[in-house]
Amino acid sequence: MEKSKAFLVVCDGIGDLQVNGKTPLQKASKPNMDKLAEMGQNGLVHTIGVGVIPGSDTAHLALFGYDPYKYYKGRGTFEALGSGMTLEHGDVAFRCNFATVDPKFKVIDRRAGRIGTDIARELGKSLDGMEIDGVKIVFKPTTEHRATLVLRGKGLSCKVGDTDPHGCESVLEAKPLDGSKEAKKTADVLNKFTKKSYELLKEHAINKNRAEKGENQANIALARGAGEFEAVDSLEKRFGFKSACIAGGALYKGVARFVGMDILDVKGATGTVDTNVLAKAKAAREALKKYDFVFVHVKGMDGASHDGNYDAKVKMVEKIDKLIGELLKENAYIILTGDHTTPIVKKEHSHEPVPICIYGKNVRIDDVKTFDEFAAAKGSLGQIRGIEVMQIIASLMGFTHIFGA
Ligand code: ZN
Ligand code: ZN
Repeated sequence: MEKSKAFLVVCDGIGDLQVNGKTPLQKASKPNMDKLAEMGQNGLVHTIGVGVIPGSDTAHLALFGYDPYKYYKGRGTFEALGSGMTLEHGDVAFRCNFATVDPKFKVIDRRAGRIGTDIARELGKSLDGMEIDGVKIVFKPTTEHRATLVLRGKGLSCKVGDTDPHGCESVLEAKPLDGSKEAKKTADVLNKFTKKSYELLKEHAINKNRAEKGENQANIALARGAGEFEAVDSLEKRFGFKSACIAGGALYKGVARFVGMDILDVKGATGTVDTNVLAKAKAAREALKKYDFVFVHVKGMDGASHDGNYDAKVKMVEKIDKLIGELLKENAYIILTGDHTTPIVKKEHSHEPVPICIYGKNVRIDDVKTFDEFAAAKGSLGQIRGIEVMQIIASLMGFTHIFGA
């Protein structure tokens, strides 16, 4: 069968509920998305399952064709992969941040006076490479006060709680989250690391200097969101096509890298409402020369939803519409959908399915004329699960085979 190419555009938090009778998708002026809907096949996606509230990480895994109930082992892994780290089988990764604590380990400033990337890099050197109970510590600052912590060794587990209290309370003691000896060992190592980070950082010249200037010291590294790394078969191995990812946030890059996509960096792709969607679109078109499948993630709508900002979400839809207009110039399938619903009125993720439109050669065109939650519900694709999306895309692209004879 002849092979085709495809774009998968995932708008984070795209779904919504009506505010004064209309969802942001219904309110926005979006001629390109509507054209897609009119010339394509439409439906709704329950990214994880009917009634399940999706996280962004689990929803993306599902949309890429990986059952999150089987493959999801915590967020930390994806953040680490997304920040460019190479992980080994069995590694346990955490998101970390430098913070300021008093001698009783009460958090005074969770962002340590928002130390810049350069200072964090310098401080990070004193934590990277140490060994605790035979477990190697890999510590890599990412941006500003943030970092990635990886515990590398035998017999570790992601079933461990955070040391980050997420506010100005006392630093938490990491607790094992199940009865396994692996969870206990991981919690022990993490607690020892936390104490050690305080001992080393408070004596660091940079912090002594900050103290003299009356600035908050970055005197501890707090961890959260443990994830355990287990390598999986890549999309290329499963389907045979080459894929790339264009995204701003480390989490999305991380999930994409996990399934074997190449990560393409785009200038101006910031992961906020101001993200340069046209730069992303151009990069996606360019990537199509080398790759069969290009995943484009656009974050802005979810942020606007968490802020409860209806107008910002409408504006973001209109921005993304220009991106779709750009992608329409290519002779490729366009699959437009989202990872979950984030209603403005709730300011958090919600269980309702998201619209999906499949546009391209030989799709079963239905009567739907606009792209939104309610029009999509009348589409001929009906309601599908996230994990089924990639199978459909692979078949459209000509990368699957007949089952049977
Ligand atoms: Zn999301
Ligand atoms: Zn969100």
